[in-house]
Amino acid sequence: MYQSFIGLEIHIQLLTETKVFCGCINRFGDEPNTNVCPVCMGYPGVLPALNGEAIHLSYIVARALNCTLSPQAVFERKNYFYPDMPKNYQISQFSSPLGRNGWIDLEYQGKKKRIRIHEIHLEEDAGKMIHAGDMSLLDYNRAGTPLLEIVTEPDMEAGEEAELLLQNFRRTIRYLGVCDGNMEEGSMRCDANVSINLEGKGLGRKVEIKNLNSSRFVRMALNYEIERQTENLDKGVKVIQETRLWNENRDVTEAMRTKESAHDYRYFPEPDLPPFIPGAEFLARVDKGLVELPEARRARFIADYGLNETAADFLINEKATADFYEEVLKSGAAPDTAASWLQFDVRKILNRGNQELAGSPLTAQRLAQLLSLLAENRIHGKIAKQVLEAVFAEDKDPARIIKEKGWEQMNSPAELAALVDKVLAANTKAADAVRAGDEKPLGFLMGQIMKETGGRAEPRLVQKLLKEKTG
Ligand code: ADP
Ligand code: ZN
Ligand code: MG
Repeated sequence: MYQSFIGLEIHIQLLTETKVFCGCINRFGDEPNTNVCPVCMGYPGVLPALNGEAIHLSYIVARALNCTLSPQAVFERKNYFYPDMPKNYQISQFSSPLGRNGWIDLEYQGKKKRIRIHEIHLEEDAGKMIHAGDMSLLDYNRAGTPLLEIVTEPDMEAGEEAELLLQNFRRTIRYLGVCDGNMEEGSMRCDANVSINLEGKGLGRKVEIKNLNSSRFVRMALNYEIERQTENLDKGVKVIQETRLWNENRDVTEAMRTKESAHDYRYFPEPDLPPFIPGAEFLARVDKGLVELPEARRARFIADYGLNETAADFLINEKATADFYEEVLKSGAAPDTAASWLQFDVRKILNRGNQELAGSPLTAQRLAQLLSLLAENRIHGKIAKQVLEAVFAEDKDPARIIKEKGWEQMNSPAELAALVDKVLAANTKAADAVRAGDEKPLGFLMGQIMKETGGRAEPRLVQKLLKEKTG
């Protein structure tokens, strides 16, 4: 009976060397108040200068999210007084943001859905306030670091959908290398807006939820809020337009401030910064920064390599993994085999050692070599897994490990025939039973031969020999 509407405001900290309008270092975790200067502290008379890297990364995101790029991005002052912003205003964009009317495509509940992007703008981040008992501490290292805000249209309906959008978006910005997307450390933050209304009546009165530092909390808070608003409307109680906070200890949203206390920011153009006009050369450089995005890569992996969705999802999640996978395929490895090794065997070892693929002893060349040794029957499956372990433990090539450890598969018919004879002679009871027509002891005899050879005997050949010699 009710329809729900969700719109997100996502902030991401751009991975630039320096802050957006001064030369201070942009780095998380430094000693408080060490990366500051008169510009980001807002001393009288200082002049901001736009960081070229920050505007470059901003346009990369705007392009990747299919935005119409503004021919003239204007910086404006957003005026407010709060101790986290010593200038008493924040340089932001308002009337002419750098990107507008983009979109993100989702696959939600088996259907394609397009979430429109209202706008994207670049601004400076505020400092960080740490509330300790009855005092508040301030760290201005973050003040003036580049922050990109992405505002969606209220096109989503459920917490799950917003969570999916965030996961999708996070993957995209990580692919683009513009932000690490770490919601716990606050390099990616999200405010969620939600309203409900009677079916067909359009948007309701929105509630904004803040303090959401994981995509899971975004989902939980939105679903909680939809339920709360539904109960209110059912009881005939009006929903008030307000800002609420997510309480992660109690799993509820709590009122923070109402619309009446909303700010009037008195935006006006920043007199010390000219509008940014992206030229042809700049835009060409932006296009060079674009990469195949995760969704497209996922579709291509499924279409070209015949992967199932689970495997494709796993492989494309991190760009480094997807790149690694395609590097392995270049050597001629079978797409499904390579995918399954990465998805199961390799992942298991990485998880166990709390390691990342990048920088681990397993290079794409090494995995490719291992898979080709396996494909050529020079080792068999069980040994291959041991070889993989050894690559991680010893940081050596698979071919060398196999040689050093004598793990190469035994393929010689003569050698194996002698072994089969030996095992049959040593286990006359089992051998006679098989000869009398009982197939059950075959497994036992096979096991004995594998034991003799340390698992190196080529199993199909052994099977054939066993059948011949007991037939
Ligand atoms: P404000 O002026 O309060 O900042 P905006 O119109 O700029 O509101 O929208 C901020 C965010 O809230 C956007 O993501 C937008 O999609 C979402 N939003 C706006 N109105 C509604 C509504 N009635 N219901 C749900 N979300 C909304
Ligand atoms: Zn500074
Ligand atoms: Mg707004």
